[in-house]
This record gives sequence, C-alpha cells and structure tokens, in this order.
Amino acid sequence: MEKKKISIIGSTGSIGTQALEVIEKLKDKFEILALAGGSNTELLKKQAEKFKPKYICHNSTSQLTVSGAKILHGSDGLEEICSNKENDIILVACSGKIGLKPTLTAIKNNINIALANKETLVMAGDIVMSEARKHGVKILPVDSEHSAIHQCIKDINFVDKLIITASGGPFLHKTIDDIKNATVEEALHHPRWNMGKKITVDSATLMNKGLEIIEAHHLFGFDYDDIEVVIHPQSIVHSAVEYKDGSVIAQLGLPSMHIPIQYAITYPERLEGIKSKSFSFAEIARLDFEKPDFEKFPCIKLAYHAGRTGGTSTVCLNAANEEAVFAFLDGKIKLYDIYTIVEKMMSSHKVIQNPTIDEIFSVDAAIREQTKNIIKQMI
Ligand code: MN
Repeated sequence: MEKKKISIIGSTGSIGTQALEVIEKLKDKFEILALAGGSNTELLKKQAEKFKPKYICHNSTSQLTVSGAKILHGSDGLEEICSNKENDIILVACSGKIGLKPTLTAIKNNINIALANKETLVMAGDIVMSEARKHGVKILPVDSEHSAIHQCIKDINFVDKLIITASGGPFLHKTIDDIKNATVEEALHHPRWNMGKKITVDSATLMNKGLEIIEAHHLFGFDYDDIEVVIHPQSIVHSAVEYKDGSVIAQLGLPSMHIPIQYAITYPERLEGIKSKSFSFAEIARLDFEKPDFEKFPCIKLAYHAGRTGGTSTVCLNAANEEAVFAFLDGKIKLYDIYTIVEKMMSSHKVIQNPTIDEIFSVDAAIREQTKNIIKQMI
C-alpha cells in the first residue's frame, strides 16, 4: 500500500510532537512531506533529520539548513506547503490565527485536514466549512472532545444533541474568591492534561470549553441549543451524543492525545498505533458528572452568546480572550479579569454578519488593539 503523505503545521508544539510519536509508530503508513514550526529551529531540525521531509518551514530569524530539504519561511512558506497537491492530509496543529489562511489554502487544493487549531473554526467556521463542502474536503477533528463525537456519530440525522465533557480545570471546586485571586502558577496546574500555556489558562476559565462549543457547532452543524456541556472531572468520557431514540453513545479512554490524533490522520481506518495501557472500568471505579457553574465560570456563557450571535462576534470573543490571557500570564491582570475584559469587548463590538476573511482579520486586529488599551488602563 502506498504511504499517506502528510504535512504538519506546528510540528514542534504539543500536538505536533505527539503526532510525530504516532507517525513514528506507523512509519510504514505515513511519509512526512513537510514540517512547519515556529521559532524552535533546534527541535525542528532534529525532527527533520529523523523524518526527512521534503520541505521545512520555520519562522525564526536564525538560519536553518537540513540536507535534502527545501527550507521555507513564514506565512509564504506555509502557503507553499498547503498548496502542494502531493499532500494526502495536512495536520494543522499550530495555535493562533496563523493557522487559518494555510488551512483555507489546503481546502481549496482539495487536501483533507486534521484540525487541531481552534482559531480556524472559531474565527471563520462558516467560510471554512462551506469551502470544505464545496471542495469535498474532510475536516477531521483532533481535539479529544470533537474526536469523541466524531467517533460516536454513525447516523448524524438521528442525533438529537451533542454532549461535550469538561474536566472543570484546577478551580472546579474552588470558591469564586479563590478563582478571582488565582495565581498564574495555580491556573497553569491542570489536573488532567498537559498542554500549552494559553490553552491551559483557557481550561481554568472554561473559555476553552466555550471555544469547543463553537467548533462543535461548525464541525457537526448542530444548533447551540443542542450542544450541552457537562463537567466530568476524571476525563475518561471524552464526549457523547444522544440519539433521538434516547440512546447515548460516548467515547471513553484514558486521557491521551495520541488516540484522537491517530484517529484523525488514519481515518477512516482505525489502527493499533500507540496503545496506552489496557482500560479497566474497575480500576477507574467511578465517573462523576455535574452541571457547569456559570457563575464561577461565566466564559462559557459568553461563548454561547458569541456563537448564537454569529458573524464577527466569535472573532471578538477569541481575540479579546487571547490578549487577556497573555496579560494574565504576564501578571498584569487577575484571572477573573479575563472574563470582565472579554465581556466588555463583546458588548461594544459592532458585529459584521457573513464577514470576508479580510474583514475577519481586520476585526481581529482592531479588537486586539482595543483590548490591549483596556488592559493598559486597568494597570
Ligand atoms: Mn479539548
């Protein structure tokens, strides 16, 4: 069988490195066409020497040479990789809005996408999904919750609602005052998943779950009223769907990103790959579920509101949140201020419905600027 040609955008990040672990295990199934990373050229070079891609793209000012590979740079380099029709699939694993344009380019070149980048659907879900339909391209979710839903859906027309689980993050059973005074260190201490800093803070405020609701709406075409969030601290049930006959199908497993990454890139096949230790209900013993507390975690409400409003509302939510999270990580604001700031930005935002990609980027830039100004006034 011919090997599947894959490119990874964001190969040096948390998802990218785990994807390479999966691919190493499945090396008779995959050939890496291109690896793209940011500024960690040392790791990128190591990866390139091991996996021997034809193209390497980086975003650093330092020089990078790897024998046998063409070196590309920045967003032009990403465009070149994503328009290369040799690709069977591209894993978009970078974080931030830099993922959006290359993803659209790949879709327009009829290349399937394994999507881990949140901004792509949160900022431009309508455009991305309609281009994907037009080009017959599959958008395969990598995030554990959406992968779970993807694995649970057989007959989508018979599904009544999506149930997205959330671990609840480090402040689940803390008081609202604890949350208001949380330190960066406390917020970065996620009980279940080891991830990048930005997403870990989003998991502490539950904004991450809010962004996932918006992604689920676009990926699976469900109304926001039919997407429910439930807190499940053990992170064993990765999400579920309820069918019209009342049957609920959930996907379970020990918390590991290898499984959803592998399912996305090998779909529609299911391969053994990296198998974690055997699953034991008896060892897990109990699974708990509870309603999310919207008073303690109001960011979920903001995300539902932005999603229902549509247009550039979700662009505003995402941009204001990201700037506020950076300010929190820099020690400039408190954790709860993230919510206050995003709420303030959203209430003054003039929503553009059906925005173009250029409008999306200009709203994104404007919101970031205004958010930084608000933060400056606060400190
Ligand atoms: Mn997730």
